[in-house]
Amino acid sequence: MTAEVHDDQPRDLLIIGGGVNGCGIARDAAGRGLSVTLAEMNDLAWATSSASTKLFHGGLRYLEYFEIGLVRKALVEREVLLRAMPHISWPMRFVLPYHKDMRFEAETPTSRLLSFFMPWMRGRRPAWLIRLGLLMYDTLGGRKILPATQTLDLRSGPEGAPLDDRFTKAYEFSDCWVEDARLVVLNARDAQDRGAQILTRTKVIGAARVDGVWAVTLQDMNSGTQRIQRAKMLVNAGGPWVGEILQDRVHIDTNEGVRLVRGSHIVTKRLFDHDKAYFFQGTDGRITFAIPYESDFTLIGTTDQEHDDPDRRPECTPEEQQYLCDFANSYFKQTITREDIVWTYSGVRPLYDDGASSATAATRDYKLKVKAQNGAPVLNVFGGKITTYRRLAERVMQEVAAFFPALPGDWTAGVPLPGGDFPVDGVPDLTRGLQTDYPFLGDVWARRLVRAYGTEARAMLGDAREAADLGQDFGATLSAREIQWLMDKEFAQRAEDVVWRRNKLGLRMTPDQIAALDKWMQARVAV
Ligand SMILES: Cc1cc2nc3c(=O)[nH]c(=O)nc-3n(C[C@H](O)[C@H](O)[C@H](O)COP(=O)(O)OP(=O)(O)OC[C@H]3O[C@@H](n4cnc5c(N)ncnc54)[C@H](O)[C@@H]3O)c2cc1C
Repeated sequence: MTAEVHDDQPRDLLIIGGGVNGCGIARDAAGRGLSVTLAEMNDLAWATSSASTKLFHGGLRYLEYFEIGLVRKALVEREVLLRAMPHISWPMRFVLPYHKDMRFEAETPTSRLLSFFMPWMRGRRPAWLIRLGLLMYDTLGGRKILPATQTLDLRSGPEGAPLDDRFTKAYEFSDCWVEDARLVVLNARDAQDRGAQILTRTKVIGAARVDGVWAVTLQDMNSGTQRIQRAKMLVNAGGPWVGEILQDRVHIDTNEGVRLVRGSHIVTKRLFDHDKAYFFQGTDGRITFAIPYESDFTLIGTTDQEHDDPDRRPECTPEEQQYLCDFANSYFKQTITREDIVWTYSGVRPLYDDGASSATAATRDYKLKVKAQNGAPVLNVFGGKITTYRRLAERVMQEVAAFFPALPGDWTAGVPLPGGDFPVDGVPDLTRGLQTDYPFLGDVWARRLVRAYGTEARAMLGDAREAADLGQDFGATLSAREIQWLMDKEFAQRAEDVVWRRNKLGLRMTPDQIAALDKWMQARVAV
């Protein structure tokens, strides 16, 4: 198939990948006045960026590796992000039950140091060291909104009730929850509002330098048609595919790459009755979280497994499911089995290959590498966390500025994402106000809409006076009007985009309801 050149002017940036990093970079660049095209081969956040543990966190366990810089950067960023998106992100308290026999990874720098001074503690941690780590966690990031660490007596209070009786003491610290897939979509929307072109289900299948600019071949994955888009600079934010894009699409030889480490989660019916999460230290030295999820469920994860091929869709294997059940069973009184799992998801961490010995030990920090031989530059993003996506985009812009000298400075800190222009503790007020204006909304429905759309919930509901005005009901409070909004404003094309990424109503809808929704959406696209 021959592709036609479609543009008269080359774009400033062409970004490959619609995960959190690609969309964050698109937003930042468009806001600085650059002309931007972003190409995502599937749906936005289709890969790793919808499969995370969904935490804005400093990463307590990285302190074990002395990754102080990474932890500080992420801790400071938590509150910046929380302020910009109080609808899709909220503070969460984490309960870390302490037991003197808990096992920790033996090969971390902390372990080695401790074994030197206290050889009898090999593989374990004294309580004072955990308290010290949490003190650092509290102070490194300069908290203003999030409350400090405290010690809990598990023999009284709701936090101890679901746990095995051998746990009598815990530490409780702060981090934040974020709806990861919505974070990506809202960045893409804001980028589009600032002039970026966002192309979903559009794959970059090749790129070549022609007359000092990139000629990039884009394939529409729905129709199969191809076209060429020219760009002055390429940004490779392909996540797990970053190496494949470099080698096979852009044809640049490099020995830099990503190490693919799969992480899986299981979801069960709710296992405890409060809104705090648990941080569990396992007998193998690893940690997992058990987190209140979508009101009626508990999310448990994650695992760390080498994954050889980005094109092999990650799945939570039966062994990983059993591992996570066993992990939870070593803490909770209630025993869960694989029969209790209602959903699983799995993602591949694209970790910068720094030659670290184990998947758990590989650095979680990102690396940016620019290749500018023979004219047109390409910038490659290796690694990175959800929590650091905005900072990563700022760093990318510093590199981009070398090629676009008059580029304006940083601007995204403090600028809300769509629907996020309200106070951090404003969700209850916003929900009450929405119910006053739309009295047919029940509590659960109103809260879901505020958590998804924030101050934009009203624009989505429009002039509806009763539920029937919202058109067809697809189940679980999903109406035709909401689907129209998601298709027109949030790039959704298929039912799976809606029920597993724009929201998680797939947990509550039947396969028949999801199939009916898909049919309706296909028919709307065809019109
Ligand atoms: C199990 C797990 C738990 C995690 N938990 C957390 C957490 O709690 N907090 C945190 O901060 N971070 C967490 N992370 C890390 C975080 O999720 C990732 O670092 C981040 O999502 C990576 O985003 P990305 O945009 O680089 O990659 P991706 O989200 O994978 O996006 C890359 C995109 O590029 C597209 N693409 C690839 N090739 C092409 C092509 N040729 N043409 C067009 N498009 C292409 C893909 O379809 C994909 O959508 C976790 C990761 C995992 C796996």
